[in-house]
Amino acid sequence: METPARLIVDLGRLDDGKYEHLKGALDRSVLEIDDLEQLRPEGDLVYDLRCELLGDELLVRGTLRLACACLCSRCGQTYHTEFSEKAYCETFEMTGLDTLDLTESVREGIILALPSYPICKEDCKGICLQCGQDLNAGPCTCAKGEGNSPWDALDGWMA
Ligand SMILES: [Zn+2]
Ligand SMILES: [Zn+2]
Repeated sequence: METPARLIVDLGRLDDGKYEHLKGALDRSVLEIDDLEQLRPEGDLVYDLRCELLGDELLVRGTLRLACACLCSRCGQTYHTEFSEKAYCETFEMTGLDTLDLTESVREGIILALPSYPICKEDCKGICLQCGQDLNAGPCTCAKGEGNSPWDALDGWMA
């Protein structure tokens, strides 16, 4: 079965005329972020949302998730991770409407949760600006020679 590319709420389908639990995935093509070099979606946009009709307004709350391949902006390594928006919450004015297209809103919701400068791990040491070595793999010779890298002090504490 193909992953749909739109997320539509149909008021005629709401339980008790009020509630709906939306759970599923939207095709990643809706994200339109294929041109980002440092971040590439690898999975579909996964949503788990609760809709509630309050008078003429539809309240939609829940979580959005997206698996990505990222390029670490410190060390340049590719890594895989999942980004999420756990507190998506929007209200929509529904006066005179029978359906609502949530696609654009959830697209914006997950895009806001994506970092501009992804980092493979909190304490990624990056690469040496002098010799280009990945410092996560170990110190390079230029750091040893000078002995004044900020990481030397850290190494001292951990030893
Ligand atoms: Zn890194
Ligand atoms: Zn170096």
